[in-house]
Order: sequence, then C-alpha cells, then structure tokens
Amino acid sequence: MKPIDVIIVGAGFSGLSAAYYLQRKGLNVKVLEVSSQAGGRARSDKMDGFTLDRGVHFYHHSTTELAKIINLNKLELKNSYPGYLLHYQGTFNLFTNPLYQTIDTVSTALAKNASFTDKIRLFGLYAKLKTSTYNKLVKEPDSSTFEYLSKTGFSKKLIDSFFRPMLAANIFDYNLQSSSRFSKVYLKSLFQDHVALPKDGIGKIASSIAAQLDDNTISFKTKVKRITDNGVELINGDFLESKFVVVATNAIDANLMAGEKIMPAECSHVSTLYFTTDKAPLSKPVVILNGNNGTTIVNHVFVPSLLHPEYAPKGKHLVAVNVVKEHDLDDEELEVKCLTELSEWFGLKVMDWQHVKTYHIKYAMPFKPILDEVKFSKKISNTVYACGDSLSVGSMESALRSGRETADIIAQEFIKGNYKKRDFAESN
Ligand SMILES: Cc1cc2nc3c(=O)[nH]c(=O)nc-3n(C[C@H](O)[C@H](O)[C@H](O)COP(=O)(O)OP(=O)(O)OC[C@H]3O[C@@H](n4cnc5c(N)ncnc54)[C@H](O)[C@@H]3O)c2cc1C
Repeated sequence: MKPIDVIIVGAGFSGLSAAYYLQRKGLNVKVLEVSSQAGGRARSDKMDGFTLDRGVHFYHHSTTELAKIINLNKLELKNSYPGYLLHYQGTFNLFTNPLYQTIDTVSTALAKNASFTDKIRLFGLYAKLKTSTYNKLVKEPDSSTFEYLSKTGFSKKLIDSFFRPMLAANIFDYNLQSSSRFSKVYLKSLFQDHVALPKDGIGKIASSIAAQLDDNTISFKTKVKRITDNGVELINGDFLESKFVVVATNAIDANLMAGEKIMPAECSHVSTLYFTTDKAPLSKPVVILNGNNGTTIVNHVFVPSLLHPEYAPKGKHLVAVNVVKEHDLDDEELEVKCLTELSEWFGLKVMDWQHVKTYHIKYAMPFKPILDEVKFSKKISNTVYACGDSLSVGSMESALRSGRETADIIAQEFIKGNYKKRDFAESN
C-alpha cells in the first residue's frame, strides 16, 4: 500500500476541503470519519421519505469557497423567503430587509414590536452594515452584542423580541453575549444575503464535495482515539502511520484526541424537533421567530417542505421546531411543551402533528469568537495541524476556508520535506 502522506480526522466541511486541496497537490490522503456519512454537523438523514437536516442550515449566496470546489447548479438550490416572520403578542409580522424588499418594507414599518425610533435605527444599522466592509467591522471596538445593541439605542422591546431570537436562530446566542464584532459580521451577511437549500437536503453539499475526492479516500465508521506526530491510533487499537495529521473535528473531540486543550472548546447548542403534518402551518418558506420572551422555549420554526416539497413524502409537510434556551426537560416533555406553545401560534390543530425525530446538537457552533484572534489553521506540532470552525466562526464557509488554508500550509511543508525532521520513535 502506498504510504499515507496526510491523515485527516473528520469528514466535515473542513476535513473534506483539506482533502480536496491536498489531493489536487498530488498528496496521498486518507480521511477517517467516525460516522457513516460525510458532512459532519451539516449533514442530512433520510427517514421514511423525509429529509432531516441535522438542524436547520442554509447555504449563503454571498459565500465563495464552495463554488471553488463544486458546480453549485448540481445542488438545485432554492432561496428561502428573505427576512423573518415574527410571532409577537399573538400576531405575525413580516420583518424583512428594507434595503431590498420594497413591498415588505411596508410590513417592516408596521411591525408591532418596533417603535418609530427603533425602525429608524434599524434602517441605520442596515445601511451601516451594507456599506461597511468585513475588514472594517472586525476592527471596530468590541463589546457584548447586548451592550452594542443597547448603546446603539435600540429599545429593550426590540432587542428582546427581535434581535434575541434572530441571533439565536443563526448563531444560537440567545443571551447576546457573543462579541459585537462577530454579530455585526453575521448580521451584515444575513441582511444582505439570500439563503438557500439544496433539493436533497443540506447534506447534499458535503456529498457533492466528497464525490470530488479520489475513490476510497474516506474510511467511514472509523474512530480515532489518539493523534500523534506520526499518525493516529484508532479506537480498535490499530495504528495508521502518516507524514502529517490534520485534526478536522469540533474542539471537544480534538482536545480529547490530543489529550490536551488544543482548541477553545466553548460552544453553543440547539435542539431541533421534526414534526409532520398534512397541512403546513403557513404558506411561505420563511423562518418564523418567537418574539415573545419569558418562559417560552421555542426559538424558531421553519417548514423546509414549503421550499422543496421533496423534504417530505407526497401530501405531507415537515416542520422543524428549534429550541436554543437552556432547559431541563426530557424528550417527551420537550415535545409537549413545544406543541403547547405552537398551539398558541397556529391553533389547536398542531396537536395532530406527528413527531418524526429530535436532534440535540451539543456542539452547534463555537461560542464567543474573538475576531482579531481568528485563525483558519493551527499548528499543533511540526506534523500535526488543526482546522475547522472551532478556530474561527461557525459556518460552512469558514470551515471550507480553514481546510483550504491548512492544505496550503501542509503542501508547503511537504515540499520543504519538514516531516522528515520528526523522530518517529520518540513520538510514538
Ligand atoms: C443546527 C446548525 C445550523 C447551522 N446553520 C448553518 C448555516 O445556516 N450556514 C452555515 O454556513 N453554517 C451553519 N452551521 C455551522 C456549520 O454546520 C459548521 O460551522 C460546519 O459544518 C463545521 O464544519 P467542521 O468541518 O469544522 O466540523 P464538523 O462538521 O463538526 O466535522 C467534524 C467531523 O469529525 C468527525 N469526528 C469527530 N470525532 C472523530 C473521531 N474521534 N474520529 C473520526 N471522526 C471524528 C465528526 O463525526 C464530523 O463528521 C450550523 C450548525 C448547526 C449545528
């Protein structure tokens, strides 16, 4: 067997991207993945005719990394409705970007939860973010997002009823404790961007990248126990040797395999409960936010089958209900609590919805990234590198970029022959 140049642990977006670029540079790459499919957090399961994304994900059109690897047309992307439907005090308000939705500007202007001053400030924020570059935003003074929004003059009512659920739907930060720079960068992308879903589910993106790799590059159902300078030890005791190792997992798994803290492990979490119903609770494929604070726990709801009917069997709809707030309910209690809350939104017919599956995503995204410390690749030793969103911000874009940049660095080291300098006996 040809010696392995680079072992990559993890077939999420960062691992797949690293493998793609390393193979293009002619290196012999092996990807080891504990689960049975590629995509990591952004994968989909097929079950009884439903497509279940592991939490609601969207492809953002303003991103650039994915188009470098695959032909986007093959994904059959459809845009979701831009903006949000906000459920607030018993009614629904369409809350969309006034800079590109003329008709909906009227709806935004009518939103019940925003005062006239809030609306002016919101427009000012849209305009500021639209005209600022990402580089400029990350250099602005930092504070918590809550402090930033309060200082900008937004009312507590608008912060609680709009910014909280909106940022919780995107970066799972209900408490608004993330860096304001990070939130501004995210808001810029959200305000300006159209977001879309592939017809076959978000997992189609990863399977399309995996299809660009050489045959048998990925070994599925292969769990790495320990990483070393000259290869990895598998959970079954086997040792696989390689010149370089790339750890492309979330921070918690990376730290476990390294036996020390090599990545910042603070993270956010989310639970997604899928239900099915014959009749969709709304008509547009738009994310609905819960604008009512207090003891409610549903944060946002999306019906992917309104965008792509293929997400559910013929005549059925699939509803994704998302919970971000901390709670101590078991699965059955959580289901009942969500349906009870949603019966106030959509009426008692939700009690006929049937539960399909619940996902608890413990490591959803890295939390509180400090943007001036963001790096897309980390050198752990001369021959071990880490990549993935844990080093930067939670997004498929940053994971892909992280894999690409790590591949570039390793290819350079490879050309220099730096891997030969290590002492195999010592590191084993
Ligand atoms: C609910 C949710 C919604 C999101 N929405 C969006 C969105 O709309 N848009 C967006 O751009 N991003 C979104 N994200 C973020 C995005 O999914 C992640 O940033 C990205 O997928 C991270 O990729 P990664 O390669 O860094 O890590 P991961 O996806 O975590 O991949 C790591 C891989 O390593 C494997 N692994 C772990 N331990 C081992 C081991 N010991 N041995 C072998 N394999 C191992 C795992 O099984 C996994 O496949 C969302 C995330 C979540 C959870």
